[in-house]
Amino acid sequence: MELWYTENHTEEARFSIKIDKQLVSLQSDFQRIDIFESKEFGRILTLDGCLMVTEKDEFIYHDMITHVPMAVNPEIRKILVIGAGDGGTIRELLRYETIEHIDMVEIDEDVVKLCKEYLPQTACKLTDPKVHLYFEDGLRFVRGKESEYDLIIVDSTDPFGPGEGLFTKEFYGNCYRALKENGILVNQHESMYYSSYAASMTRAHKRIQDTFPVAKIYQAHIPTYPSGHWLFGFASKKYDPVEDLKAEEWNKLGLKTRYYNTELHLGSFAIPNYVKEQLEES
Ligand code: SAM
Repeated sequence: MELWYTENHTEEARFSIKIDKQLVSLQSDFQRIDIFESKEFGRILTLDGCLMVTEKDEFIYHDMITHVPMAVNPEIRKILVIGAGDGGTIRELLRYETIEHIDMVEIDEDVVKLCKEYLPQTACKLTDPKVHLYFEDGLRFVRGKESEYDLIIVDSTDPFGPGEGLFTKEFYGNCYRALKENGILVNQHESMYYSSYAASMTRAHKRIQDTFPVAKIYQAHIPTYPSGHWLFGFASKKYDPVEDLKAEEWNKLGLKTRYYNTELHLGSFAIPNYVKEQLEES
């Protein structure tokens, strides 16, 4: 009998991947965690039935959530990463020798345990001494922090369930205070193609715009995410992600990346009209 992983992207549209076998199915204190093995996409992590990571296309998401801010401010030394339990964001950040300290706050210890065992491709650097792991809610962790971080990356689940609080005005205000004067906030911003999250992400973007002087959206093509067209948010106290790109400096580092490059960085901030229009809706 054939096994397929199927995700409903809307009531009328589904996305399926043929599965060889299921490796894990566990109900944690926060969510259902499943890991599958497939020929087309390698290992696949899903949380509450939503696809988080596949071995085949995770490089796109992790390149775009890390290298974009690092190429704007190469002086980033201290970072807060919220969510990111699969470890891919940490793996990419640790390629920069200049980064001194990363606090990673993941609500669900079971995600990290299982990814270390079943997804070593992404979870390979979580025991690095520069990484300080906290198992708690990112919303609470960031409360009361003052001018501590150069960069905050919100690598979270969708705006419901445990991730819901990470799209609120209170959270963005606390991130602003937790960042130093040169601070940058990057977050995964869902997709606007299907209507399911469009309105909530328009609200989230407005909250970021109300909090930070610079608030932009950039995009990437991620084949296994709903619609394949994915967005990220870039907010900052002073840097414009296009005008302040340090292309020459970043290219001198000689980092080999499969998706990110500095030309694509510039292009990724040119977003389609339907996204612009959706973001302008109130
Ligand atoms: N690349 C993914 C995506 O966009 O679908 C995100 C992957 S990562 C696995 C997301 C992580 O965020 C999950 O492990 C989840 O447990 C964690 N998370 C959700 N809400 C959180 C919260 N409030 N505080 C900290 N971590 C949270």
